[in-house]
Amino acid sequence: MHAQLRGAVRELCAGFPDAYWRDLDSRREYPDAFVKALTKAGYLAALIPEEYGGSGLTVADASVILEEINRQGGNAAACHAQMYIMGTLLRHGSADQKRAYLPKIAAGELRLQAFGVSEPTTGSDTTQLQTTAIRTGDRYVVNGQKIWMSRAEHSDLMLLIARTTPADQVKKRTEGLSVLLVDMRQAIGHGLTIRPIRTMMNHSTTEVFFNDLEVPVANLIGEEGKGFRYLIDGLNAERILIAAECVGDGRWFVERATKYANERVVFGRPIGQNQGIQFPIARAHVAVEAADLMRWRAAALFDAGKPCGAEANMAKLLAADASWEAANMAVQTYGGFGFAEEYDIERKFRETKLYQVAPLSTNLILAYIGEHVLGLPRSY
Ligand SMILES: Cc1cc2nc3c(=O)[nH]c(=O)nc-3n(C[C@H](O)[C@H](O)[C@H](O)COP(=O)(O)OP(=O)(O)OC[C@H]3O[C@@H](n4cnc5c(N)ncnc54)[C@H](O)[C@@H]3O)c2cc1C
Repeated sequence: MHAQLRGAVRELCAGFPDAYWRDLDSRREYPDAFVKALTKAGYLAALIPEEYGGSGLTVADASVILEEINRQGGNAAACHAQMYIMGTLLRHGSADQKRAYLPKIAAGELRLQAFGVSEPTTGSDTTQLQTTAIRTGDRYVVNGQKIWMSRAEHSDLMLLIARTTPADQVKKRTEGLSVLLVDMRQAIGHGLTIRPIRTMMNHSTTEVFFNDLEVPVANLIGEEGKGFRYLIDGLNAERILIAAECVGDGRWFVERATKYANERVVFGRPIGQNQGIQFPIARAHVAVEAADLMRWRAAALFDAGKPCGAEANMAKLLAADASWEAANMAVQTYGGFGFAEEYDIERKFRETKLYQVAPLSTNLILAYIGEHVLGLPRSY
């Protein structure tokens, strides 16, 4: 099943070769044609149950799709969130909300791939976020700012987490936050402003400003004040899927470097004959394969409905480190050509670096493992 899925995704990706991604990267443009093709083929609806028009696949299956995109030289970050953000709606939305949105998301008529958590002043300290949603009759009035909201310009809907009870009126840090589904088609120009942020890679990320934006109370997902728990519920799937993307990147770097090291002849022999070149490639391969094992373990636990917080976090950390190590190795193997845009190494190098910082930085994963797995004092 996975081999077949891989083959089909690879075939689709063949229509979007290196030159496609390179050109968009230089113009910092969204890979619209690629995302449309993926949507049309049904891949982005992988995790939506069949009753809502999706394919009802597992997280393990979905991870194969994203891994393969990156392994073929593409960048699944352009659309991965369309796969998993809807999970909050699926798990915690009302029957009416699910019926209203999920079939359209599955069909590709609606994009839900903007996720508003991070804020400029509070950063990784998510429970302290400042954006407020104050209930007034049948509406919430939202004020505040989000940063790093990726794909906001390419999404119809946004999953927003905002404070509905002031921080000094809640018993626990995690209380008082709520999740709202914002229809951005109506909101833009009526209290919602999006400003793109140019970054070191082509990522379509933005900052978003809320100025008395009105959101119907009917768009509250689940219960008011419990949004942080809903958010946490979705994060394990995100970690596993991103780990798989990093594995895809890592394998791409190892394959490219191996090929180049076999072909490039200096001092009368292939550079790959030198242990100084060969061993770093072998080491990168070992690290990627080891990370992949943790990715499969986390995915198996997730799909069996078992707790997998530790494994999902470890998979993401190991895979992000492995892909970054492989990226460095590839630049070293290519020498000067590693810096030339036409070889794509420098592009993928920039793209894969993100995963040691986002969606959750490596330090915060280590802090989680320290506290929740090892029983060390909370450090943050
Ligand atoms: C390209 C891009 C796309 C993104 N997309 C989205 C998105 O779509 N939606 C969204 O909500 N967010 C998004 N993010 C935000 C991302 O999740 C955050 O950048 C990330 O979680 C880190 O938060 P921060 O940038 O505020 O760093 P900070 O919290 O300011 O941390 C800075 C550094 O300090 C470290 N640090 C902080 N506190 C501690 C501590 N107690 N112990 C040890 N180290 C610590 C961190 O690990 C990090 O290395 C995106 C970010 C980027 C760059």
